[in-house]
Amino acid sequence: MAPQKSSTDAVNRLHEIDREINLLNHTTALLNWDQETVMPRQGADERARQLELLEGLVHDRLTDARTGELLEAAGSTEEQPLGDPELPAEERAFLRALRRHYGRAVKLPKRLVTDFAREISTSQHVWAEARENNDFSSFAPNLKRLLELNIEKASAIGYADHPYDALLDEFEPWMTARKVGSVFADLREKLVPLAERIAEQQREDNDAFLRQSFPVEQQERFGKQVLEAMGYDFSRGRLDVSTHPFTTAVGGDDVRITTRYNPDYFQTSIFGTIHEAGHALYEMGIDPRFKESVLGEGTSLGVHESQSRLWENMIGRSISFWRHFYPQLRSHFPEQLGEVPPSQFIKAVNRVRPSLIRIDADEVTYSLHIILRFELEQALVTGDLSVRELPEAWNDGMERLLGVRPDSDQNGVLQDIHWAMGAIGYFPTYALGNLYGAQFYRAMERGLGDVDGRVARGELSAIREWLGEHIHRPGSSKTAAELLREVTGEELNPAYFTEYLEEKFRLLKEL
Ligand code: ZN
Repeated sequence: MAPQKSSTDAVNRLHEIDREINLLNHTTALLNWDQETVMPRQGADERARQLELLEGLVHDRLTDARTGELLEAAGSTEEQPLGDPELPAEERAFLRALRRHYGRAVKLPKRLVTDFAREISTSQHVWAEARENNDFSSFAPNLKRLLELNIEKASAIGYADHPYDALLDEFEPWMTARKVGSVFADLREKLVPLAERIAEQQREDNDAFLRQSFPVEQQERFGKQVLEAMGYDFSRGRLDVSTHPFTTAVGGDDVRITTRYNPDYFQTSIFGTIHEAGHALYEMGIDPRFKESVLGEGTSLGVHESQSRLWENMIGRSISFWRHFYPQLRSHFPEQLGEVPPSQFIKAVNRVRPSLIRIDADEVTYSLHIILRFELEQALVTGDLSVRELPEAWNDGMERLLGVRPDSDQNGVLQDIHWAMGAIGYFPTYALGNLYGAQFYRAMERGLGDVDGRVARGELSAIREWLGEHIHRPGSSKTAAELLREVTGEELNPAYFTEYLEEKFRLLKEL
């Protein structure tokens, strides 16, 4: 049977609306990129109003009654988001993606959206000051308000099982707290003893040489060599500097990354650059047919993070990678690294040490920082934990999971900006990225064969192409769960990640 003409017409109209939304979003991305990289400080005031205006326009386009009518005419409802079963699969995926954005947007009362925006803009300043002064109590009222707004948001959006589901869905579509909880429970059980064992194994290692002067120009030159080898296309992107490194798509053929240089610690820039390039290759690898469409985006933050972490850790911190790149790095820094043998270098960039700060955490302990935040967020949302009790619960959790207790709230509950930005449900995507990444990597080994050997020969393009074909190309036309099933043949399984770590640190020990 052919699709009804009315559904085809409706889909075509929806493509026009979607295209405008996409162009507006990319314009917003450009203004944000500019703000973070080159905008003069005095530009901030008007920039905030420009961004607010654009976000308002997107919201209006999306929530316009016409959008809802057209979705309905194409057969897409909340229960059956894919719409008319006779439509081509790709159009149905388009309807599902657009319906999801529409559904979330129309359910939020305008008042809630503006309250959120206002609270977030003040909270970020209050949080920054509270962190600076190590004074949680000055931030607590803002956090309490943001938590209430999140709870209100969850009930406006609706959920079947747990209010956290409605919040998580914004960042990891169709994922549930129950699923994350069961996967994290497995993960935690394996990671806690593993982290202890590896830290013990490495107790005598010396990584003091990482802390010396590494001139920025050479760091930049080496970083660009790695980007070239990865196949980051400078005719469709650029590398700049910002305080907090990020990747942004300003267009389908304009995917920019930033990095940060620390002249006394070169790891920050090189691993940060590889990480962001992993995100960028994902965006650059999406099927060009999905350009200027909701399908032309990464399918979830977790899958996005799987690409950055796969490149940064599984490839960029591997023994094979440095077999190839260490001589190049050394040629940039003969004085600093001339006496450091490759094995010592590789062990040093893989140092595992329970620490207080998430963003400085190693590959093994990192996910434990996330598990803590996930547990606390759920307890806050259900009311089992109050904002007043939060710092203590944080410190207890750190002790329980990582065996270290923060000496201050600055190094504890106040360290991350996410809650001050109103984002509850975001953190799990970082650890999901580790898990998806390891599972994809194993599928790539089966499909491509000898991934390790290719990395050791510096043949990174074969890896980019495999990831492009299997993971990047579909964009948002497949959900994370569909992608995982199609590429790896199974559901999310945390065993791949822990097996990968076990194997890697066994090899490192023998090095
Ligand atoms: Zn990332």
